[in-house]
Amino acid sequence: MDSNKKPLRQPFVLGQTPPLNSPLFPNVAFTSKTPDQMDKVYETTISGSTYSREGHPNSSHLAKIINPMEHAKFGLIAGSGMGAISTSILGLLRKGDHLIANKLLYGGTLALFEKHLPRLGIEVSLISFDNMQNLADALRSNTKMIFTETVSNPTIRITDLENIIKIAKKNDIFLMVDNTFTTPIGCQPLTMGADIVIHSLTKILAGHSDAMLGYIGARDDMFFEPINDVLITMGMTPSPFDCWLTERGLLSFSLRYARSQENAKALATYLSTLNVIKKVHYPSLPSHPDYERCKKLFGKNTGTMLSFEIEGNRTTANQFFEAISPIRFVPTLGDISTTLSHPLSSSHRSLSPEKINEIGLSEGFFRVSLGVENFDFLQDCFSTAIKKVTS
Ligand SMILES: *Cc1c(COP(=O)(O)O)cnc(C)c1O
Repeated sequence: MDSNKKPLRQPFVLGQTPPLNSPLFPNVAFTSKTPDQMDKVYETTISGSTYSREGHPNSSHLAKIINPMEHAKFGLIAGSGMGAISTSILGLLRKGDHLIANKLLYGGTLALFEKHLPRLGIEVSLISFDNMQNLADALRSNTKMIFTETVSNPTIRITDLENIIKIAKKNDIFLMVDNTFTTPIGCQPLTMGADIVIHSLTKILAGHSDAMLGYIGARDDMFFEPINDVLITMGMTPSPFDCWLTERGLLSFSLRYARSQENAKALATYLSTLNVIKKVHYPSLPSHPDYERCKKLFGKNTGTMLSFEIEGNRTTANQFFEAISPIRFVPTLGDISTTLSHPLSSSHRSLSPEKINEIGLSEGFFRVSLGVENFDFLQDCFSTAIKKVTS
């Protein structure tokens, strides 16, 4: 045993010189002087933290940075984008409630809605949001929530948010919107009338593929208690380090977004001039089915994601990825560098052949998440690889 008669831990003092960067708090617990003081922290009459699963300075600081971007009354950080979605749904819905969701959704969200919510007694209707009559027809007396993404993956279709909001308001139903692809630069669903906005911070907002987190922002304080209680109790708490990395990533978010979007527009325009490209999915192109809606909802912010199609089978796809090797093939998006994904072998691999057909996927369908590189470099990479597999 140590014979040194001192406490093992010494209090940490920052002095009168606050650091430029936020400190990282990899702490499980925060000390209180007395039970009376701990009561006050729990009752929020004094500020502070207790046990990190119940909240910590890095997560509350990060939420404070994102809340004004989404015009949220309050925000919570969860351990992943899926954690944010699960937490808010489990906080607001109960057995016997009905959820209507756009059937074009992120794979993890689809799995939650198809496999797990029904198991818990929550009814789910996955329908096409192409037509608002479908949505009106799907309403039931127990419908509590509508869920959609602002932009669907991987066909980059823009959701008719204005009319969905009208239906939700008229029928007194919560509307939850996953704004991951669009980001608050493109649109702020809460200002349009949505109740909850969700982000996978893992993607464009953190931007460096080194942190995995989710955000839940809400229009009204009444959502705080039920959602926060599930977050704490079910242990969806974020890691302080991931919050700290995300805060750093956010410093360059608007610059990264602007440059990536410029690259996306230029690549979409370039690809649409090539005869060997069957289709380019990007809403700055007048050929895009939601061109007008995108202009109305997002203005010039057509985003940083595009997809395109070439003729070919799996061999063509393998050759394409080998030929474009400086651009990395990864099952994520929103990195500072340009990355590629292949929905049929990743995000959409478990879909039935009918669903694949219905969405319009094929082996030659590629999704691009644009980064901040010089556009000439990107154009060289794409033109070389496309030539290799189409000539
Ligand atoms: C990635 C993603 C999610 C899930 O986020 P994770 O951080 O991976 O849990 C949810 N929605 C969309 C649109 C996504 O792209």
